[in-house]
Amino acid sequence: LFAGDVAFLKGVVAMDGLPPADRIEVCFAGRSNVGKSSLINALTGRRSLARASNTPGRTQEINYFTTPGGPYLVDLPGYGFAEAPVAVVKKWQALLKDYLSGRQTLRRAFVLIDTRHGIKAVDDEILTLLDKSAVTFQVVMTKADKVSVKDREKALAQVREALAKHPAAYPEIVLTSSEKGDGIETLRALIASLE
Ligand code: GDP
Repeated sequence: LFAGDVAFLKGVVAMDGLPPADRIEVCFAGRSNVGKSSLINALTGRRSLARASNTPGRTQEINYFTTPGGPYLVDLPGYGFAEAPVAVVKKWQALLKDYLSGRQTLRRAFVLIDTRHGIKAVDDEILTLLDKSAVTFQVVMTKADKVSVKDREKALAQVREALAKHPAAYPEIVLTSSEKGDGIETLRALIASLE
């Protein structure tokens, strides 16, 4: 997986814009600035692939990437951005809800959590939505290089405790650093193993 070219396919703003459900897909969700673009770039071995999704105006789009012979990689808009107007947030929440509950080929959601911050209320809302949508999700801790081993263990414990309340949670947590490359191969293998 990811041996060949990963390519940007399209940005989607409404359900009828989704590409044909002709293969499985995995999605990536997380608060703004959690390190989602960096992770997708590290995963795909491309330095600026996910940058387009970070430019203003594109941020409310669901961005689709194709992998040769593999699943779609789906970059969901970052959430928890304080400055976003209420109407924009509402529209995004509605699309997210429709997407998560309506996309039959979605095999797993990777929810990114900053190792320094742990699970916040806004993350927990997404986890609850994933439960309701019956989408299996897995937590990916980001920026692991930024914390001490002790704080890392603390963060993991907090996440484990929070996950116990979520029936859709996949128990294994993946610790990553896009900067150092930690956990990237693990995550790649995980995605490749999905059917
Ligand atoms: P996004 O808004 O979730 O797409 O976040 P970005 O990928 O743009 O990352 C936000 C900031 O965190 C940037 O300044 C990145 O350089 C930094 N960052 C992302 N991943 C890592 C990481 O693994 N380690 C470190 N030290 N910094 C990171």
